[in-house]
Amino acid sequence: MKVMVVGGGIGGLTTALCCARQGMEVHLFEQASEFSEVGAGIQLSPNGTRILHRLGLENSLEKYSFHPQSLDMRIGNNGSSVFSIPISDADSKYGAPYLHIHRADLLAVLLEAVKHLGNCYLYTNHKLVSIDECDSKVTLHFENGDSSDGDIVVGADGIHSKVREDILGLDNPRFTGNVAWRAVIPSSSVSEGLIPPTATVWTGNKKHAVTYYLRNGELINFVGIIEQKNWKKESWTEEGAPDELVGEFAEFCVPIRSVLKNVTHCFKWALHDRNPLKKWSIGRRVVLGDAAHPMLPFLAQGAVMAIEDAEMLSSCLMKEPLDNALTVFEKNRKHRTSKVQLGARSNMRLFHHGTPMSRLINYAPIKFAASIAPQFVHSRQDWLYTYDAENPN
Ligand SMILES: Cc1cc2nc3c(=O)[nH]c(=O)nc-3n(C[C@H](O)[C@H](O)[C@H](O)COP(=O)(O)OP(=O)(O)OC[C@H]3O[C@@H](n4cnc5c(N)ncnc54)[C@H](O)[C@@H]3O)c2cc1C
Repeated sequence: MKVMVVGGGIGGLTTALCCARQGMEVHLFEQASEFSEVGAGIQLSPNGTRILHRLGLENSLEKYSFHPQSLDMRIGNNGSSVFSIPISDADSKYGAPYLHIHRADLLAVLLEAVKHLGNCYLYTNHKLVSIDECDSKVTLHFENGDSSDGDIVVGADGIHSKVREDILGLDNPRFTGNVAWRAVIPSSSVSEGLIPPTATVWTGNKKHAVTYYLRNGELINFVGIIEQKNWKKESWTEEGAPDELVGEFAEFCVPIRSVLKNVTHCFKWALHDRNPLKKWSIGRRVVLGDAAHPMLPFLAQGAVMAIEDAEMLSSCLMKEPLDNALTVFEKNRKHRTSKVQLGARSNMRLFHHGTPMSRLINYAPIKFAASIAPQFVHSRQDWLYTYDAENPN
């Protein structure tokens, strides 16, 4: 079977790897002149690392990763803890680790693995512009004049997916009213111990911050999310002004202010998502990752969902006749990804209580529950992390 993947991000490269390892001939087309990711970190929960390990990437990931001790929520302006879910035991609890990794490192690991497979062909400077399909094949046409035929096309081409548009028609994603700031700084630039070795959400009034370490602790990753209705430019390369970022989090506690004092480069990105799509596939065309279910990053699951999709799709292509495989794939994945999309939206409300009264109403019960029934709070994420795309039920 010849599989054509459009998009060389985390979703596209993982799909290429999964399909090529199953013996399919894979052609992957990326519009950019090179495979690259934004200079920032990503959290990979056990439901994603389990799959990356199965793909033989355990050792290469380990070289670049940081293992957080826990997943924490703290009040941004005084640093007090709301809850802390231990996660350093993820290997024994979920059968795979919880990792933090720089996106560039993750992409390099995936790319290296794909390049070692003789049945996987990579093309850059190939921007998909249109698709034709007949009974026996699907044809992709690229902006540079090239075209390519195959048995199926997998749109892993992100939130503005051309393949999604081809399946469902033009429909812009929804601006969520949130802008993300991202920055990475050397850990040595802040006092040791100031930023905990955890994935920490620091809540605030219509904003929150997230901190975690990368590259064995050498780097600190900062994400700041601010509700802002009037700024919709969506580009990772849009540089923000570090002074403005410092001002946005001026009321936050010392650890956050210390990180921001050391930011020399930062990027701004308007956050968009979509409601769950009506369908993901038609004929020989299918979408996955952000092309199928773009979501707010408030559960840290967008890329992990793309990784789960990739494994499930390759498994359906192996087990089912082609005319059934895409429908089974969609059926197996839609309920879960829709639940995650909506869960990410509701976390925004949880993270953005800033007034003393709303903090008291919303966080005091969680804090109380964590003190009297810690196991209950610790199992909050089990539905997400125990999922195994190989055995979804
Ligand atoms: C602030 C922030 C923090 C996040 N943190 C996390 C996290 O901690 N954990 C997590 O799991 N997720 C996280 N996410 C979500 C995650 O980044 C995305 O869900 C993930 O990168 C989606 O991967 P993808 O491969 O589907 O799409 P993309 O990464 O968007 O890749 C799409 C690729 O397709 C290419 N392309 C597009 N159009 C065409 C075309 N016409 N022809 C050819 N190529 C094309 C693009 O150039 C790109 O390379 C976060 C997101 C944000 C915004």
